[in-house]
Amino acid sequence: MHSTVFIGLGSNLADPIHQIKTALRTLHDIEQTQLVKSSSLYRSPPMGPPDQPAYINAVAQLETTLTPLSLLMALQVIEINQGRVRQGERWGPRTLDLDILLFDDLVLDTPALQIPHPGLHERSFVLYPLSDVAPPDLPIPGHGRLAKLREQCPATGLEKLAE
Ligand code: ATP
Ligand code: CA
Ligand code: CA
Ligand code: CA
Repeated sequence: MHSTVFIGLGSNLADPIHQIKTALRTLHDIEQTQLVKSSSLYRSPPMGPPDQPAYINAVAQLETTLTPLSLLMALQVIEINQGRVRQGERWGPRTLDLDILLFDDLVLDTPALQIPHPGLHERSFVLYPLSDVAPPDLPIPGHGRLAKLREQCPATGLEKLAE
């Protein structure tokens, strides 16, 4: 049986639009995994240190037969292949960030992996692109349904890019 997974993508370095488009193609190349749908691209103000460029964000829907931890490892390989350097600063600039937002209806709370992603329910740059690919009644374990969370989350500064 395969699982339905939503991935959050973000980039704010080295031609972010290109980074996100490349990453979307590369997600499909992961073993035992297919890209089902991807959202529009969005521009968002940086979270955390303000002295960094705006982000480009998107959300992808995957189908996979990998385990959550195997998928996380595959995502981290893609981040590194696209030039991500892990530095000390939390939420600092990066060429590519790939977060597992949801993995079926799984709830997981381990140091290496938390599902649903802890920021998902309150981040406009996740909730709005997620709504491009997922139905309004999508349950977010522990937080209610997607449409309700999106209505509670102002889209201040979030800009949907033309296709
Ligand atoms: P945030 O998680 O708040 O969006 P970030 O994406 O900048 O911040 P990273 O430095 O990319 O954080 O990731 C730190 C660690 O988070 C990773 O090494 C990974 O083990 C862990 N992690 C926990 N849950 C998840 C998840 N759902 N998806 C991706 N990484 C996760
Ligand atoms: Ca594949
Ligand atoms: Ca992140
Ligand atoms: Ca991350």
